[in-house]
Amino acid sequence: MKFAISVIALALVAAGIALAAAPAPAVGKGTSQVIEKIVKTDAEWKKLLTPEQYNVLREHGTERAFTSPLNHEKHKGVFVCAACGLTLFSSDTKFDSGTGWPSFWAPIDPTHIGTTSDKSFFMTRTEVHCARCGGHLGHVFPDGPKPTGLRYCMNGVSLKFEPAQ
Ligand SMILES: [Zn+2]
Repeated sequence: MKFAISVIALALVAAGIALAAAPAPAVGKGTSQVIEKIVKTDAEWKKLLTPEQYNVLREHGTERAFTSPLNHEKHKGVFVCAACGLTLFSSDTKFDSGTGWPSFWAPIDPTHIGTTSDKSFFMTRTEVHCARCGGHLGHVFPDGPKPTGLRYCMNGVSLKFEPAQ
């Protein structure tokens, strides 16, 4: 009888562990949920994006400095991926870098962006892309303001601004 009780107790403990290990539901901003990837062919992206967006997002192009209206965007809101709509940056982290590209000192959630080492143009830079669709956004440099010291130098054409309600 004692044995049976301890088996039941063990089973309950095991069930508790299984429950604790289940993934927590996503609760919005700042959570580290796994981003489900969006994969499309080049032809599919071409239909969805403007030629300028396609050049930057899918071909790692760079828009001309001081051409994006988002440089001057000072309203409260979020900047989302122009290709898939994933939230990428908040107006709270935007700053005027003087470079002619929209600049931020942190992403809205570290899981919403990915980085790779970019050795083009005889430099080693850190390329930044959308974690969901893989779209190229820009680069991140270690010369930004506090508190992170990072400068996310983004192509405005890769972003869409959604004003806070
Ligand atoms: Zn995206």
